[in-house]
Amino acid sequence: MTDSAAASPARIIDGKAFAARLRERVGRGVERLKAGHGLTPGLAVIIVGEDPASQIYVGQKGEMTRAAGMRSDTHRLADTATEAELLSLVDQLNNDPGIHGILVQLPLPAQIDASAVLAAIDPDKDVDGFHVINVGRLTAGLPGLVPCTPLGCLMMLKDALGDLTGLNAVVVGRSNIVGKPMASLLLQESCTVTIAHSKTRDLQGVCRQADILVAAVGRPEMVRGDWIKPGATVIDVGINRLPSKDPVKAAEGKTRVVGDVAFEEASQVAGLITPVPGGVGPMTIACLLMNTYTAACRSVGLDPTLPD
Ligand code: NDP
Repeated sequence: MTDSAAASPARIIDGKAFAARLRERVGRGVERLKAGHGLTPGLAVIIVGEDPASQIYVGQKGEMTRAAGMRSDTHRLADTATEAELLSLVDQLNNDPGIHGILVQLPLPAQIDASAVLAAIDPDKDVDGFHVINVGRLTAGLPGLVPCTPLGCLMMLKDALGDLTGLNAVVVGRSNIVGKPMASLLLQESCTVTIAHSKTRDLQGVCRQADILVAAVGRPEMVRGDWIKPGATVIDVGINRLPSKDPVKAAEGKTRVVGDVAFEEASQVAGLITPVPGGVGPMTIACLLMNTYTAACRSVGLDPTLPD
């Protein structure tokens, strides 16, 4: 990567198109499983309560699961549901041979201990990849189920850059669902990985060392153009809702979504960059479908490699 690469604006990594292709490949894999083995992958999503954003996500997941030819079951529990009720449902799904993936939509109401529920999911059906067994498998480099968002980021990186060996990767954010698994995946690809967080000294200087910079912070446009090494690849995981730029629309409560990276500035310096929206976001559900397919294949000892 040279400075001349930075003289022109960054190439955009089109996550929306990439995700559509991945969903199509999953669909073809599902067709093959049905025809060759009489097996239909099944995903069960559990939602507790009425959180509007969760309702939208669950609706989208169901729609896309069915569009890929899989079975989609949604279990809706009242926000007064007890932990025991939820655990009993998880147990029932763990023992249902028609269900290969189980996802509990977060957040859960305060009376339910989310970690106890996640721990109760059969690790081989844990399509979110949050169970400690899958965390351990990922860290140890063993086959398991990998959290969807970082998996999607890695797929886009490999597609855009090919071999990642030896590249300096900086992941800003150390959450269990994005930052830490992202760092493990990049390490597995032989990157030299730095994990930065809110206590990191000279964050800007750390970011400027990155050939690959992944921002998973939850702070609107925190990563500025002058934090980026010329020609670097920037993956923006952030989803932050801000008031519309139009004051009239803002007064009506209209919002816009921005990432953790100041896109206009960053795209003048980076070599490649994901936009928000239309970058990482669409890959998350596509990877959920892929994980469900993977779990279904493994349940009968088949190779989960997707058709091209
Ligand atoms: P968390 O809030 O769990 O973690 C945020 C991380 O950012 C923490 O490790 C925190 O550090 C770090 N951080 C916070 N402030 C700073 C700062 N000023 N400087 C450096 N580091 C900082 O968030 P998630 O990982 O769950 O999500 C991150 C973003 O990704 C959010 O915008 C979320 O909406 C989005 N997201 C998008 C998804 C998608 O599908 N595209 C899926 C999941 C998340 P510390 O640990 O020290 O507190």
